[in-house]
Parts: sequence; C-alpha cells; structure tokens
Amino acid sequence: MDDNTVFGIDLGTTHSCIAYIDEASGRPALVTNAEGDLTTPSVVLFEGADRVVGKEAKNAAVMYTDRVVAMVKRQMGVADWRFSYEGQDYTAEEISSYVLRKLAGDTKEMLGLPVREVVITCPAYFGIAEREATAKAGEIAGLKVLEVINEPTAAAISYGVHADGDQTVLVYDLGGGTFDVTLIEIKDGSVRVVATDGDHLLGGRDWDEAVVDYLAGQWQQETGSPDDPKDSEETLQDLWQRAEDGKRALSTRSETRITVSHGGQRVAVTLTREKFDELTAHLLERTVEFTKAVLAVGGELGGGSFDKLLLVGGSTRMPQVAARLNREFTVTPVMHDPDQSVAKGAAIYAQKLKLGEVIRTEIGELTGKQNTPVDKDSVSAEVYQQAVENVATRAGLVMEAVKKIDRMTVTNVASKSFGIVVLDRVDGTEREVISNLVLAQEPVPVTKSQTYATVEVDQPRVDIRVMENGQRDRTVPLEHGRAIGLAVLPLCDGLPSGSPVDVTFELTPDGRLKVTGQDLAESGAETVAVVETDRGLSEEELRQAKERAGGLKVSG
Ligand code: AMP
Repeated sequence: MDDNTVFGIDLGTTHSCIAYIDEASGRPALVTNAEGDLTTPSVVLFEGADRVVGKEAKNAAVMYTDRVVAMVKRQMGVADWRFSYEGQDYTAEEISSYVLRKLAGDTKEMLGLPVREVVITCPAYFGIAEREATAKAGEIAGLKVLEVINEPTAAAISYGVHADGDQTVLVYDLGGGTFDVTLIEIKDGSVRVVATDGDHLLGGRDWDEAVVDYLAGQWQQETGSPDDPKDSEETLQDLWQRAEDGKRALSTRSETRITVSHGGQRVAVTLTREKFDELTAHLLERTVEFTKAVLAVGGELGGGSFDKLLLVGGSTRMPQVAARLNREFTVTPVMHDPDQSVAKGAAIYAQKLKLGEVIRTEIGELTGKQNTPVDKDSVSAEVYQQAVENVATRAGLVMEAVKKIDRMTVTNVASKSFGIVVLDRVDGTEREVISNLVLAQEPVPVTKSQTYATVEVDQPRVDIRVMENGQRDRTVPLEHGRAIGLAVLPLCDGLPSGSPVDVTFELTPDGRLKVTGQDLAESGAETVAVVETDRGLSEEELRQAKERAGGLKVSG
C-alpha cells in the first residue's frame, strides 16, 4: 500500500464507510474511524467554521436540531433543496462532501495513507442528477472519483469474489433510508445486472418512524394527556433515538422496554417483536412488491429466477425480513456482510480500475509508447501476459489474481427510461407526451436513435426536452417523467413542417447521457449536449463550494 492506494466508499443515508484492499491478505477491509467504529453516521453538525461528522453529530441532534443535518442523501439531486446556516445556503453535495472528508481524514490518521482516488456507491435506481451529485460531492471533498457504481452491484462484486461457480443472485438491500432490489448474474467472476428497482424513500428510518408514532400514542393513552409528544422537537429527537434502539434490540430479543418522557411524565412502553412486525408490516410488503416487480422484469428479459437471495443493508437484520422473503420465495436468504459488503465491493472495483490503468500503461511501455496507455485488445496475448507479469511482480501479487481482477467486467442496466417530449396527435387533439428512446433495464452502454418531425412551417429551432421516467413503455404521459435537461437544435430557414430531425441518446456505463440532435434536411446542423442535468450544481456553485471547503475543518 502506498500513496496511490485506491478506496471504495459507501456513502450511505444513515451510515458511511470506506474500504481498501489490504495488501497482506489481498482482501478488502474497512478502515476504522477515529472513534474506533467501522461505520460513521452520515450526520453533520455545523459549528462555526467546523463541521463535526459522525457519532458526536448524531448525538448532538437532540440538542441542536437546527444545526444538524441527517439523511442528506435523500436530497441528492433535488434541485431546490438547501440547508441554511449562518446566512449561507448549503447543497446536499456540499454537506455530503463533509462526510467524505471525515472518512478520508480518518483514513489518513489510521492508515497513514492519503485518500485521493475513490469509487463511490449509490443506489441502483439513482437517476442522472443524483449520480452527478454524488460525483460532485467527491469533487468538492478534493477526491478524484474514478466511478460512481451501484450499491447492489458493489455488494455482488464483494460476494462474487468468494462465490463458487456461476449463479444468479437477487440482492435485497434495505438500508437506513433506501431500499433497492437487483437481479444480478455472476459469471466467471464478472457481474451483470439484469434488472433493478427500488424506493429512495423507504428504509430503516421508516421502521423507526412507525415505532415513534406508536410510542407517542402509548404515552398519550397512559397519561390521558391530549399533548402530542411529537410536537416537542426535543422529545421527538429523543423518541427517534429510543425507537431505533428499541428496533435494534428486537432483532435479537422478543420484547423490549422503552421509556417515553415528555412534559415531566414518564411512561414505560413494552414493545414486543410481534407488535413491531404488525406496526411495520405495510413497509415490509412494499419491499416484497418491488422484489416481485424486479423478478417479473427479469422474467421478461429472460431470467426471472435466482439461485441465491442476498441480504444487504443494516435493516435486513430485522428477523421479519428473512422470514417474509422465505415465505414468499421459499429460499433461505443469505446475510452477506450487511454493513460492509458495499464498501468492500467498491474497493475491489476501484482496485480493478487502477490495475487496469497500470496494465495499460505497462503495455504502452512494452510496445515503445512510453507514458501512453495502450488497450490490451490492440496487442498480442504474449504482450498482455508480459505486462500482467511485470505489474504483478512489482505489486507483489499473484499473477493469476491480477489477471482475474483485470478480466472482471461489470455490466449495468439503465436505472430509468430516458426520452424526449413530443407532440402526440390523436383524433385531432394534441398533447405532449414522452417518447422514450432508452428503456429502464436496458443494458448500458446503449445508443438509440429515432427520427422525429418538426411541427411548424419554418420552425426556427427544435427544443429537445430530455425527460427521465420510471416506465418501460415507448410512450409515457408527460406527468410521469421529470425534466432533466434541454438541448437546442437550430434549424435553417424555410423548412416545411414535418421535416425530419434525428435524436440520438447515448447512455454511458457511469450513467451519463449524451444527447445529439441532427437536422436531416440540407443544413445538416447538429447539436450535441451531454445532459449535465439542470438540477445539479452549477459550475459557479461548485467553485464556491470548493473554495469554502478550504476554510473548513472537518472532524469527528
Ligand atoms: P445502512 O444504511 O445500511 O447503514 O443501514 C442502517 C440501518 O440499519 C439503520 O436504519 C439502522 O437502524 C438499521 N440497523 C442496523 N442494525 C440493525 C439491527 N440490528 N436491527 C435492525 N435494524 C438495524
């Protein structure tokens, strides 16, 4: 390990962690934070020019409700969300960057290694804006983000490294604030996503909320007071904490006692696992519905069955999860490193990217093109073999291991459908609809083109309004999508209505969308727009956030 060590970061809704490949064992390992824990609460306390991240910030939430930000991941890519502190507005990207800096700072302290290059994970169903926000958070934190990859994919990579043989795995990931379920094929150590879906507003926190509501109700019943304990910000924070503790206790015990203090009156509530399961059954059912939907899509795409059901995310420790899934799918789910597998998979992937780069550079050296990376496909098997051997020797690794990790591929699917707004004429009436070019669950990278027609005579330009939506139909009602960007194609004068215009969508593996519009009439005008989305941070906001970062101290 040296200053070039790469890291994998699980930037979670409630907890985050960072992993690297331990050289001695060759296996991924989590870095212990300054507080001695493997995971760090993704909670930020604003204190003048200081940002306190982690356990202390989480504990301070009860006292300083207006200075503590939690669950900021749910705001990633939300255009108008800001947190205000001392007259300054902060975006979700900037607040997430503090969490990343805390992880990086602790790593430097604990391992003595700087964190420079990272792979960060995000939920599979994150759209373009959210992915970009994740990458920007890394940039603000001064990190080079090699790639943003999907959490379930990372979990599958970490699992797949040790799995014997080819298999199809259903990854059920229930974290603190998000849920996703992904059907993944592992073949020769490579990982291919077949189908994925999820809900970014469903997670352990909702289970906590159900308990909070129950506790408040029990307090009212016992005291006969019409006061709602939840109306007091202080009691509410305390209830959240107690509810979460109680929930965790019920993962190993059949009942727990929770004290509710409010307005000078204390009530001891006994919560049984049975009651807890009943209070939260509707939430669990939602996850089952998503799971069935993903399997149905998998079925449409030729693979709706699975060999293993993998549980990921801290909330899968609730016994209700495995029990319910077992009842539905008659399999025994496997719990695979629920809190760590995502970060570990990201670390393996980061190492793969780095090794790939080193091997390409080595091929360049061997073929006389110093300092120019050369792809292995353009050279003979012997040259590739020699390059791998040199790299393995220098790194002190076994050659087969280097080859295996270099050969590993990760294929993703589009998390959303992408299309443009077009005018649909049916029986003389006109309405705007979305015409989808790329459908959700299509393997990426993907390029799709479609020819459309102009509407008016001598139309000066075409506004290509790019939309993201969750439906797998070619035509989708406008209200089911959200606008993510605009590309403008100027047209030459004098074109009749109905003139052909070609639109091409190119979705890259890391979820970026390049949109090209081309006027097929004489002028052949072309407009190319990489949809940077109009929801993310502007260049100016990014610059300011980076500037502010210099003057801030982030600690635990
Ligand atoms: P993650 O985002 O994967 O870190 O998930 C954290 C979530 O897992 C939080 O909602 C925790 O309350 C929940 N969690 C962690 N441990 C347990 C446990 N033993 N029982 C129930 N939920 C847990």
